Amino acid sequence: MTRVQYWLTNILRWFDSTAGSDHLDTSSRTFNFLRVVPFIALHLACLLVIVTGTSPFSVFFAVAFFAVRMFAITGFYHRYFAHKTFKTSRVAQFLFGALGASAAQRGPLWWAAHHRHHHQHSDDVKDLHSPHHGGFWWSHVGWFTCDAGFAMNERRVKDWMKFPELRFLNRFDSLVPAAAAIAIYALGEGLAVWAPELGTNGLQLLVWGFFISTVVLFHATVSINSLSHVWGKRRFETGDDSRNNIWLALITMGEGWHNNHHRWPQSVRQGFRWYEVDMTWYGLWILERLGIIWDMNPIPEHIQEETRQLDAMRRRRS
Ligand SMILES: [Zn+2]
Ligand SMILES: [Zn+2]
Repeated sequence: MTRVQYWLTNILRWFDSTAGSDHLDTSSRTFNFLRVVPFIALHLACLLVIVTGTSPFSVFFAVAFFAVRMFAITGFYHRYFAHKTFKTSRVAQFLFGALGASAAQRGPLWWAAHHRHHHQHSDDVKDLHSPHHGGFWWSHVGWFTCDAGFAMNERRVKDWMKFPELRFLNRFDSLVPAAAAIAIYALGEGLAVWAPELGTNGLQLLVWGFFISTVVLFHATVSINSLSHVWGKRRFETGDDSRNNIWLALITMGEGWHNNHHRWPQSVRQGFRWYEVDMTWYGLWILERLGIIWDMNPIPEHIQEETRQLDAMRRRRS
């Protein structure tokens, strides 16, 4: 591949994540600047807030869109596509997959493939985003910006590859975020006319509701790769360095109970005690009551017993 072909292929990959995949070194851990231009641009676009200013509505919208998409990422990208901790219909799996895709964290199959690899190799040398083998910034964002991170091992998601609509969503993973950005801009322009008292407009809502919301959502999500393997308490000896951390659990709607999760990834619920706040699980519980999802995997009795015993032992020691 000539240099020009390499550049063009990387630009094409902004739109089609599979472009030129036969000719690229998908084991490379080198920062691929051209490929990550949209990701860098997304961060820089947040600075437009200096021009657009802020309104209470734009901040409210950013927080709400953050929460809805965090739920889609943790509830569906993670607990459904990666771990299959419950069942749902083909329509719901596509719709929640598309909602997750609007977070611009690539497609659901890419996400699940990498995450399954993480569980198999947690904190060993093959783990692509272990803070113990690459340091904080590598585990947080470095792994996301190299071709080894962009590549997807299809064998790890064979179970999902049979759904053409998911393959499409996964291949053209910038389509949904782009559509969401356009829709938010249009909504802001509409509100400027229909509800001028809200003090917002297209560009302001785009900056808060999409750029800032998406960037904060990204860093909150990947804090589970970086901080959750460094910062917090370990209840279980899991063979990796995963931690439980209430602050990360609050920011990520339950993912901060990461040591629990590494102990028993099959459970839909990651907070193992009633006081371990797990907003995603509450949301999934409601979806189950509504009949949208079913067959949620519980925390098995022997894991609950182990949790109680370890907590009692810790109380006795302190
Ligand atoms: Zn982990
Ligand atoms: Zn997991």
